[in-house]
Amino acid sequence: MSKEIPYKIYLEEKEIPTKWYNVRADMKNKPAPLLNPATKEPMKAEELEGVFCKELVKQEIDDTTPYFDIPEEIVNFYKMYRPSPLVRAYCLEKELGTPAHIYYKFEGNNTSGSHKLNSAIAQAYYAKEQGLKGVTTETGAGQWGTALSMACSYFNLDCQVYMVKVSYEQKPFRREVMRTYGASVTPSPSMLTNVGRKINEEFPGTTGSLGCAISEAVEAATTQEGYRYVLGSVLSQVLLHQTIIGLETKAALDKYDVTPDIIIGCAGGGSNLGGLISPFAGEMCRGEKNYRIIAVEPASCPSLTRGSYRYDFCDTGKVCPLAKMYTLGSGYIPAPNHAGGLRYHGMSSIVSQLYDDGIVEATTVKQTEVFDAAQKFARIEGILPAPESAHAIKVAMDEAMKCKETGEAKNIVFGLTGTGYFDMYAYKQFNDGEMSDYIPSDEEIAASLANCPNI
Ligand SMILES: *Cc1c(COP(=O)(O)O)cnc(C)c1O
Repeated sequence: MSKEIPYKIYLEEKEIPTKWYNVRADMKNKPAPLLNPATKEPMKAEELEGVFCKELVKQEIDDTTPYFDIPEEIVNFYKMYRPSPLVRAYCLEKELGTPAHIYYKFEGNNTSGSHKLNSAIAQAYYAKEQGLKGVTTETGAGQWGTALSMACSYFNLDCQVYMVKVSYEQKPFRREVMRTYGASVTPSPSMLTNVGRKINEEFPGTTGSLGCAISEAVEAATTQEGYRYVLGSVLSQVLLHQTIIGLETKAALDKYDVTPDIIIGCAGGGSNLGGLISPFAGEMCRGEKNYRIIAVEPASCPSLTRGSYRYDFCDTGKVCPLAKMYTLGSGYIPAPNHAGGLRYHGMSSIVSQLYDDGIVEATTVKQTEVFDAAQKFARIEGILPAPESAHAIKVAMDEAMKCKETGEAKNIVFGLTGTGYFDMYAYKQFNDGEMSDYIPSDEEIAASLANCPNI
């Protein structure tokens, strides 16, 4: 007899994982190394240490060590808001009339409202350990900046955030949360950096992009003594920290002898998805198990499904190392859709390689169907989801409906990465019937890819 499964599966405090899992150790084809944009040679640790914290550089380039101990200070911080619940979506299953069992891992139970705090606290910790004064970063939708400002205030570090101008204006309350935690927030492009002044001169009145804000934050880090740059997604170190999500999920499922059939996550830069799936993808890499793993992208920014797997710039100003990834081209400016956190032109090199190896599959969904799913979910399961998270909800619901047709009781697990309280402007557009779908043409994508470096 299988055990009765509660609405929420919590781990006990002593069951919170104390190591992060590095899936690269088990990957047969390793993700390609970061390259120096000038020499096209793999970046050496010393070169990366000018931009990133030392310990984080170690994590970034290590593709053989399977587990990293989580420092005690970070474990203790995790205890304030973790373990996050794994919820059995009984109400949703009933509403859909599906025989499928649906589970979601909810990462929105902290003030920053998303999974990003899992990596922010780690990055702030290593910056403090190194004796730095502070860190700089960019934020698009604002979740990363919020998480980082919380983490920095905990360790008494200065936090300078370059926030994409359009979102600085659209999300004034995100900005105030960051300021409450002591961060300084500058709309990007700004007049504080050379690259910002140049972009403002070239494109007067521009509302900015993530790629521009990254260039500004990197310049700010490298021109101030005692500062380093930190990034909230894409990098392998961020995926490593986010494996706390997948390790907890696996431990919770194991407690009830549940084996997932399908695992679903939204994919922007790939950090929550990579973190959720790592332990499962690792089993697949080792040939022990088989799962269906689905990455969900917005149709307006389809890097895995319609991009090209190649080396590309990570930012508009082309100051960052080159990364091999599925990309739409670093000049790709997605239509102003509302899933702000999913608008990056590239994808984590780990997720890219897993996708190329057929371990991860990918699909796209349109904005209006995403909000439709978000609204349903809010009404049935009670949680008002972030638009990013709702991409995963949409596909989980679709898969559950397929089970209804076939009568299969599959176990579907998805990542619910955050809450949508700061996205009410987007919900307003949806409620007013003013939301539209944008799908780029093949020509648009080809034109953007033409500007990738020739490697
Ligand atoms: C940033 C963000 C995402 C997307 O980022 P990934 O690195 O792809 O995980 C998804 N959901 C929420 C709530 C976010 O804040």
